[in-house]
Order: sequence, then C-alpha cells, then structure tokens
Amino acid sequence: MKVPLLDLQKQYATIKTEILEVTEEVFESQRFIMGPKVEELEKQIADYCGCRFAVGVSSGTDALLISLMAAGVGFGDRVITTPYTFFATVGTIARTGARPLFVDIRDDTFNMDPQALEKLLLSFSVEEREIVKAIIPVHLYGQCADMKPIMELARQFGLTVIEDAAQAIGSEYQFEDGVIKRAGAMGECGCFSFFPSKNLGAFGDGGMVTTNDAEIQERLVKLRNHGASPKYYHAMVGGNFRLDALQAAVLIVKLRYLDQWTRGRQENAALYRTLFEAAGLEEVRLPEEKEWRHIYNQFVIRVPENRDGLKAFLGERGIGCEIYYPVPLHMQSCFKGLGYEKNDFPVSERTAETSLALPIFPELTSEQIHYVVDMIGQFFSSKKT
Ligand SMILES: *Cc1c(COP(=O)(O)O)cnc(C)c1O
Repeated sequence: MKVPLLDLQKQYATIKTEILEVTEEVFESQRFIMGPKVEELEKQIADYCGCRFAVGVSSGTDALLISLMAAGVGFGDRVITTPYTFFATVGTIARTGARPLFVDIRDDTFNMDPQALEKLLLSFSVEEREIVKAIIPVHLYGQCADMKPIMELARQFGLTVIEDAAQAIGSEYQFEDGVIKRAGAMGECGCFSFFPSKNLGAFGDGGMVTTNDAEIQERLVKLRNHGASPKYYHAMVGGNFRLDALQAAVLIVKLRYLDQWTRGRQENAALYRTLFEAAGLEEVRLPEEKEWRHIYNQFVIRVPENRDGLKAFLGERGIGCEIYYPVPLHMQSCFKGLGYEKNDFPVSERTAETSLALPIFPELTSEQIHYVVDMIGQFFSSKKT
C-alpha cells in the first residue's frame, strides 16, 4: 500500500471546478498584483483568526521579515526564539541584522519553554535589556505555544511578540480566565504561510500577517510595497512583499474547506492514538495535546531507539515520513558565529534525533492509517525476535 506523507492531488480533485472558475476570473481581469481578491482574503483571514487586520504578503518567511521590520528590529538588536523550528524563523531575524537568542523547547509540546524564557530574560544586564526587542514563539506542528506566561514576560520586559503561526492557522489557546484566542491574535503580529504543504496552502508561495494594531497594520502595508506612501515617495525602505491575486483567489476557495480539513486531520490523529494504544507500542511516544485546539499540520511521534531505521523501513513499504527538523538551528553552520555549542539546548537536540512525522493529511483513509501503525509494529516486533 502507498501512503504518501501528503497527497495534494486528492484534495485538488474535490475543489477543481471552483478553483478553475475563480482563477479564470483573475485571468480575464488581467489584474495580478494585489487588488480586490487580496483584499477579500485579508478580511476573511482577519475574521478567521479573530484579528482586526490582516496584510497579505509573498510568503511565511516574508511575513516574519516584514513583522520584524515593522517592529523596528535592526542591526545590533536581539530577538528571542527557539532553536527547534523551520529555518525561516531564525533566518529572518539574522537578515534584519539582529542576533537570534535561543531558549529551549518543552519536551511535551515542542514549543518554547516559558521557564527557560524567564531564566534568560532575568539573566540580562541593564544594557542587554535595552537591545532585546522581540520574542518569536512558534506554534509548532499546529499547537499553540504556552502564550499566557510568554505574553506576561513580554509585557514585563517591554518586548514585541511576533507569533510564528505558519503551521497553526485556526489553532487555539485558552487563557486561565477562559478566554480562547486563535494563533496570530495574541501577540503584536501573527505570521502565516500558505506554502502548499501548510493546512491552508496556495498554488505557490504566499503569506499573511495579522495584527490588532492599526499603526502596525499601516506600517506593514507600506513596507510590503517598498515603503512607498504615496506611490514613489519613500519615508522608509521596504521591499516587494506583495501577495498575488491568483494565490488569493485560490485561498478564498480553500478557506471555505479549512475547518472540514482540520476535522479530518484531528480524526486521523485520534485514530492513530487509538491504534497505537491498542498495539501497546512502548517504543513510540505520541504527540501530546496540551493546548485548546490542535490543527495537526504534522503528527510527530518520538522514537528514542533507531528512528532512522524505522524511517527507512517505512520508506521501503511505501510510507512517506519526514524528520522535522534534523538539525536544531543553534547547530547550523551558518549560525556558528552565534557561539552556541552542542548540549546548550538538550531538549531540542534530543527531539531532532528522535522525531518522525507520519502522514496526517485529511484525505488519508483509515486503511492507510491502520497500515502505518501495523508497519511500525512490525518493525519493532522484528527487532525483538
Ligand atoms: C513554513 C514555515 C515558515 C515559512 O513559510 P514560507 O511560506 O515557506 O516562507 C516559517 N516558519 C515556520 C514554522 C514554518 O513552518
């Protein structure tokens, strides 16, 4: 049986007519840059995330970069995030000229450890505090970071919070007073990616920044178009971070299905749990659901013994799986200059050695999920005999 990690053709088949209609509309208009489709999508995404504003941009990476620029982060500044994330979270910090500072993740959620954050913040001298400007919590794999303590620390230390919500559109976090907020609605900015493999994927690159702050929104809108305001007059230097009308048109169609697809992912996760528990596979640690609404961009298990052997075994049996991410960012050679060393972030390092993402896309069949769990069981039972 073949079980790809992701099968976008299956999804496309269910929405093809609508997509062809709406893209034809854009072709006929011959308006490809920004325009009414982008504005419509911005309104819908703002509503969906429970935010006042959304600004369409060219990718999730550019969403992070433009948010940092709008926050005034630049040369010599410091920005705090975790070393266990996609490269863009940290790459964009470096591109502003700021220096990334890392805190480790929590072992149960893969997300920023608020205690480690507090410890780092308290360790700063008065001079150091001056140059620390922002925190980027990442809502990894579709589950929100523990935002209450992170927001409290940010307020206490006067830091901007930029949520990396690239993998977490529609995921939710419940505060202690019962208030529930969506990813992207808690910090100053929320950064989303429409890379095709994300839960809401475009037909190419695309991204979005959400914010509740009208001044930030205004700055984002200018920065996305070279900082121009009015046209050809530049009080600031921005870039070309614009979203295409074609991508917006596709995303407007797909957004209508997002909750249904999310349910599919959640049901698949539940079935994995049932089957793994029934199989009593002690060699596999399942992902934990700690926060309110997990949207399962990825279903990532931990395999402490012989993860790479299991990955190869599954690959030979037609099952797609992937390691997100094999090298924590403090160990990447381009960040050698930051001065971090092995063992600085033990949870991130251990996770990089043991994590394995299994297929979780909404259109998976229950037979496919059974097959994946059966094959994992077979791998470990063959090791025992
Ligand atoms: C995908 C992703 C990004 C970057 O998004 P692109 O649209 O690919 O530029 C940033 N951060 C995280 C956590 C991501 O998963």
